[in-house]
Amino acid sequence: SYRKGGYHAVRIGDQFAGGRYIAQRKLGWGQFSTVWLAYDTSTSAYVALKIQKSAAQFVQAALHEIDVLASISDGVDVNSKCVVQLIDHFKHAGPNGQHLCMVIEFLGDSLLRLIKYNRYKGLPLNKVREICHCILIGLDYLHREHGIIHTDLKPENVLLISTIDPAKDPVKSEVSPILERPEGSINGGVTSLIEKKLKRRARRAVAKISGRTASIGGTEDQKSVRNLDGIDVRCKVVDFGNACWADKQFAEEIQTRQYRAPEVILQAGYSFSVDMWSFACIAFELATGDMLFTPKVGQGFSEDEDHLALMMELLGKMPRKVATAGAKSKDFFDRHGDLKRIRRLKFWPLSKLLVDRYKFSQSDAHEFSEFLLPLLDFVPEKRPTAQQCLQHPWLRGTESNEKNESSVENVGVGMSNLKIK
Ligand code: ADP
Ligand code: MG
Repeated sequence: SYRKGGYHAVRIGDQFAGGRYIAQRKLGWGQFSTVWLAYDTSTSAYVALKIQKSAAQFVQAALHEIDVLASISDGVDVNSKCVVQLIDHFKHAGPNGQHLCMVIEFLGDSLLRLIKYNRYKGLPLNKVREICHCILIGLDYLHREHGIIHTDLKPENVLLISTIDPAKDPVKSEVSPILERPEGSINGGVTSLIEKKLKRRARRAVAKISGRTASIGGTEDQKSVRNLDGIDVRCKVVDFGNACWADKQFAEEIQTRQYRAPEVILQAGYSFSVDMWSFACIAFELATGDMLFTPKVGQGFSEDEDHLALMMELLGKMPRKVATAGAKSKDFFDRHGDLKRIRRLKFWPLSKLLVDRYKFSQSDAHEFSEFLLPLLDFVPEKRPTAQQCLQHPWLRGTESNEKNESSVENVGVGMSNLKIK
């Protein structure tokens, strides 16, 4: 991908925007871009520098993302809004072409990493509450103040607010741009030392968040994982590459598979409520460590069809009106609103699943289901808005303070195997 139209190759110490930003280390990459930790010499702060591939369609996509980011970063104190902030953008000419670059605030690990670090066991419910609260603030801001639908909400796209502050950190002198440019020394010398230190720090930061101060991947039990009180978990919604305005939509097929709402599968049109569906999927995943729906292609049925079947096994039968309302409804449902190719479904309601499989207490399971189920309504208009959801008693944690006592190992949801076909 490092060719004409592709990624821009960056070396540590490379300068951007006339020397204002200096590349420090790679933070991550996506299909369209690489993302770098950079030092902003004009504000003496660390930022994330997203460098887009240079081919026309990537430039187009970046312009769109900048458009969305600029509109949500405008005016208000975005910091309190739980969405990532755009600081600057510019073009950078390299051997592979002209790359659009976005300068965004530097954030920490994604929720996916947090779930992984917790060895897919699920976070304590009070932490789930805090994270849900943040995501909802972000969604409410996007939906109500900007008319924007994110359309790709998933754990990778929610980043923790970084607890690493390289600027205030003892390793500062090592990563500061004053340092000799350690060009080409990614695999050795000073750079790798800095990288190792930053990595270790990042690991420790996550360990702190997930309540473990001992080594990651060790044998700490749930007890230590549960002991997270006093750590304020905050996060922000990122990746607006696919976001759209409710009245200006671009794609019919949106969302990452597991977080996709039923109306999207059926192509029955969509609105803000698709983000609420994905939000519920994320909340479940945070609390249990497992994805809520993991559809698979099977003999004689498609992934879409399996997905719809899984939804109905958990949530009950889809109202006929909804099932038959989409452009693709006829591919899956007969005129009675029954799936054509997956006939017998085994109903396993959410609260029972939480108790049976995840060993929630009855009251935790009941309260958590009361929070999630309205968000998973098959009728999109009936799902609560982010604003309404923020009022839900579950978020206030006024219920019993019993924690998720789950100690079962991850066995994978795989609800498909309950289907009698
Ligand atoms: P793409 O649109 O190409 O998928 P993303 O915006 O998803 O790019 O970013 C790719 C990766 O870079 C993310 O998964 C994350 O690991 C990292 N990243 C993105 N933005 C930031 C940020 N603000 N701070 C820290 N890391 C980030
Ligand atoms: Mg991405």
